[in-house]
Amino acid sequence: MGELKVIRLLVGMVMTNCYLAYNDDSREAFVVDPGDGARQISSVIREQKLELKGILLTHGHFDHMLAVPELKQEFAVPIYAHEKERELLADSQMNLSGAWIGRPTSIRADVWLKDGETFEMAGFAIQAIFTPGHTAGGVSYYIEAEKALFCGDTLFCESYGRTDLPTASGREIAWSINEQLLPLPEDVVVYPGHQEETTIGHERTYNPLSKGAF
Ligand SMILES: [Zn+2]
Repeated sequence: MGELKVIRLLVGMVMTNCYLAYNDDSREAFVVDPGDGARQISSVIREQKLELKGILLTHGHFDHMLAVPELKQEFAVPIYAHEKERELLADSQMNLSGAWIGRPTSIRADVWLKDGETFEMAGFAIQAIFTPGHTAGGVSYYIEAEKALFCGDTLFCESYGRTDLPTASGREIAWSINEQLLPLPEDVVVYPGHQEETTIGHERTYNPLSKGAF
């Protein structure tokens, strides 16, 4: 069976949380949002004797995906993203890798997910929850059996992702947080794209976009 273990790595110029999540029995692993530092990520995978099975992207911004091409080349594992993020991932102006930092990067996923779709990885059932707003094709990854949620830049501890970048929408991020994420069980641990962990219960009370009444 095995339990989920999560290693947090801080990568890149804006200190993005990249998560190496693995099954402590089989040591099969997946990486969420490898935003930079491919060599660092790769060396942790080897030190920990993990077997990488997939690359999960919450959205297409440069600081969540710059290490994808190198990891894909080294480990030859599938890339997962939401189907509505296709254009932003492909376009280095929209994903800001070219526009902001001069490292133009274009990503094509191998698996394009839809809202509610569940797939198996590293022995866990992972549900894709569509969470647009920070970008048009944002997705969160929920492992119900392990009470874990990887939500990218949708939900932060007592905060939320910015909505002034290409394809963003303040109305949609409020919908994603209130209709898609906060109804999850209160003891679910939230692993966000920046800053510290939180829980669904904490965000119901303290998130500025929370409408309460869950
Ligand atoms: Zn972002």
